[in-house]
Amino acid sequence: MASIEMRNIVKKYGDGFPAVNDVSLDIADGEFMILVGPSGCGKSTLLRMIVGLEDITSGDMIIGGKRVNDLAPRDRNLSMVFQNYALYPHMTVYENIAFPLRLSKTPDDEVRRRVTEASDVLELKEHLERKPANLSGGQRQRVAMGRAIVRQAEAFLFDEPLSNLDAKLRGQMRTEISRLQRRLGITTVYVTHDQTEAMTLGDRVCVLRKGLIQQVASPRELYEQPVNLFVAGFIGSPPMNFLPATVEGDRLQTPFGPIVLDERRAAAVRGRELLLVGIRPEYFEDASLVDDAKRPLGSLFRARVDVTEWLGDSQYAYIPYEAPEAITNQLRELSRELDSEELRTQAIVSIDATSRIREGREAEFWLDSRKVHVFDPHSGDNLT
Ligand code: ATP
Repeated sequence: MASIEMRNIVKKYGDGFPAVNDVSLDIADGEFMILVGPSGCGKSTLLRMIVGLEDITSGDMIIGGKRVNDLAPRDRNLSMVFQNYALYPHMTVYENIAFPLRLSKTPDDEVRRRVTEASDVLELKEHLERKPANLSGGQRQRVAMGRAIVRQAEAFLFDEPLSNLDAKLRGQMRTEISRLQRRLGITTVYVTHDQTEAMTLGDRVCVLRKGLIQQVASPRELYEQPVNLFVAGFIGSPPMNFLPATVEGDRLQTPFGPIVLDERRAAAVRGRELLLVGIRPEYFEDASLVDDAKRPLGSLFRARVDVTEWLGDSQYAYIPYEAPEAITNQLRELSRELDSEELRTQAIVSIDATSRIREGREAEFWLDSRKVHVFDPHSGDNLT
């Protein structure tokens, strides 16, 4: 196993535009790192530079303490797990796992020992004589990982391995990969554009946009303390609401009414004019269900509910609002970049399943204003 260090990595393709732009990232030995971002952000390019499938324009790639920029892929001892697992259909599970050892002319008894060991760990012992066509998706994934284990690779690299699967299987495989990675403790880099995978699989997540790192943090930190509008909008489902707001003393004036800020937030926005306030759907509650002690800690407002969606354990309410055109345009652009369908001229509110709010009626909402984020609409920076 090995650590992976990237120092000021740049990749320019023919057109000179940097697909990866000065990326520095340390992945610890045994760590599970996710690279996530919308299409074209450079995540696959970065992964391919780690493996050696793509030349590095400038910067240093250091694996296990050794600079590997000029090493061929086969000499880096990394194992890439592809979307389709690249198993040989005519070979048994045993021979598929043994394949890298055959290539390196490992003696038979050593092959047997290592394949047995790997199939023990991966719970594939009963399936060694089967062909890949007779395995479930999860078992195939394990065979692909078995190949990586027998080689005693320094790290696993995954490029969107689950994107071809249906939602149910994807969920199962996610759990499987996560369980195996923890059991094996092998350094893992996993590329995805799916924020659920990003949030559930990794120890840390690196969010990329246009070849630039936006934030590297634990899933929880990304969710609770996104550094900018992009990360805030990318992480979370349904997405964070962004409402236009103006500053009036220690309050933000929003289309829904005033939000009273705590001291820290009020200080952060002092002297500003137009801002975007970021509110996760679950920061709202049906005011009639909020107890008296908690009420003064948040802000109350009335709004007309357009549509509700019942989810069993909670419900969503959609509340349309008016916003200045400049803000609407900006949010539309952000939605497009994030590949999100939301046009965000309506807020999504997630409230308790027992709430009696009704479509087409006004309702009173309570907002936990201690949690709101405030963004500079120009730079996108989180000011709070
Ligand atoms: P996706 O999720 O769509 O695979 P990605 O985040 O993995 O996207 P990359 O495939 O790394 O993005 O591409 C990053 C940028 O580099 C894109 O603008 C892409 O068009 C460009 N690019 C990728 N490969 C090449 C290539 N071989 N030649 C020229 N440009 C390329």
